Amino acid sequence: MRVLFVASECAPFIKTGGLADVVSALPKALASMGIDVRILLPAYPTLLGAVKVRAQLHQCDLPFGGAIRVLSGEADGQKLMLVDAPELFDRAGNPYVSPDGADWPDNSRRFAALAWAAASIGRGEVPGWAPDLVHAHDWQAGLTPLYLQAMKQPTPPCVMTIHNMAFQGLFDKGVLSNLALPQDRFHIEGYEYHGSVSYLKAGIVYADQVTTVSPTYAREILTSEYGLGLEGVLNSRSKPVTGILNGIDLEVWNPANDPMIAAPFDSETLEDKQYNKRDLEDRFGLAHEPESPLFCVISRLTAQKGLDLAIGAIPALLQLGARLVVLGTGDSALEQAFVEAAAEHPGKVGAIIGYDEALSHLMQAGSDAILVPSRFEPCGLTQLCGLRYGTLPVVCRTGGLADTVIDANEASLRTGCATGFQFCSATISDLTVAIERACDCFRSKARWHAMQRQAMVHPVGWEQAAASYARLYETLLLSTPSMSTEDM
Ligand code: ADP
Repeated sequence: MRVLFVASECAPFIKTGGLADVVSALPKALASMGIDVRILLPAYPTLLGAVKVRAQLHQCDLPFGGAIRVLSGEADGQKLMLVDAPELFDRAGNPYVSPDGADWPDNSRRFAALAWAAASIGRGEVPGWAPDLVHAHDWQAGLTPLYLQAMKQPTPPCVMTIHNMAFQGLFDKGVLSNLALPQDRFHIEGYEYHGSVSYLKAGIVYADQVTTVSPTYAREILTSEYGLGLEGVLNSRSKPVTGILNGIDLEVWNPANDPMIAAPFDSETLEDKQYNKRDLEDRFGLAHEPESPLFCVISRLTAQKGLDLAIGAIPALLQLGARLVVLGTGDSALEQAFVEAAAEHPGKVGAIIGYDEALSHLMQAGSDAILVPSRFEPCGLTQLCGLRYGTLPVVCRTGGLADTVIDANEASLRTGCATGFQFCSATISDLTVAIERACDCFRSKARWHAMQRQAMVHPVGWEQAAASYARLYETLLLSTPSMSTEDM
């Protein structure tokens, strides 16, 4: 089976969040099941620098002006296809935002070009390789099923995965006239959203199957609280949205063999985690205090992530004898609040504003617990890394956080399956109670170590998810006989 992934990010080449991790790790897991996956990405400078380009497969004019080349190549063990259009993608830094912090004004056109290239490959117009199925990720790839469906000839089935409903790719309807979009589908049942063009809605309406990244989020986005205006569209689909839990790449996130941490450890050598704690304390200018629980935050600093709650909980956390280290970047008010907290509580709170992959590994290895107080969380990856590194997650009971962390309540502690701490509502007081529970537990060493060991063996890899995606692909191919593998 041949599957084309269509996305705007892929770790380690270009990453703003968990999407990049998923687009990198899931194809590897699918490949190990014999599925031939190619990842179609914009040819950003970092990708052109990293990829060993093997061939130019295709060159064409876009129907809305300009031209693209489709290149194929390999990097980091991945088979990649790149949409090379320097005018659109030869821009360093964040893929969506210009250096002055505003969205690139031609984002509608840039990601229409990505989707147009995907549809061309899907229709078999690119020599050398044609997919049996197309898998589009997030709004940046949202026009793919629309462009595919707008063609008269049979096209491969298309899966649309929503990684976050909060990013919808909404553009003024002025783009209608210059992106070769089928105007007869610009209505409430099509890709129109309150008079604008919605790339995510296009993906939802025209894909054969919509998935999202956890079972709880799949249920939540059917409600007005989490659907963010698209719950009606999701509810009106004949096939329900499927929730398939993300995993993490167990080769990248392996505490027993992680070149980015100070000392390797596993569930049998947990005591070696303390060397990472010492190193982390040094990095943040904290004293060595093995008996004081060290909490961490590794996150985009945005309202979604509930980090204003973490700031509000700092006095209680310090009162409990615990400490906090933060790595993140995002809203300037949140950045400033963490920097101020660090200045106010030297040696107890540390904050590094920025994005630092290596430091994030050391933080997972050296902290005792990780705070993820998100107001909503489609899946969340940092709590999965936390589990793998015996860094117990303290999470709000929402989305994928609810699905991946087993709360340390009486029953789970008795049966030995607890792996972290959940709290119900995104408030400072609920978060504080969860931090208190974690601190209590930390002081009971036998209980804490048992939880750490349980967390470290909790399955967080891609095996199960990849099998679920493979089953979904097979079902779709069977129900689309004209494009089944046998016909290709
Ligand atoms: P989201 O995609 O909403 O940002 P996820 O938890 O799904 O959240 O994924 C975030 C990914 O980005 C994780 O791999 C996390 O380790 C990483 N990350 C977030 N912020 C930083 C940072 N400041 N430095 C390094 N890695 C970060």
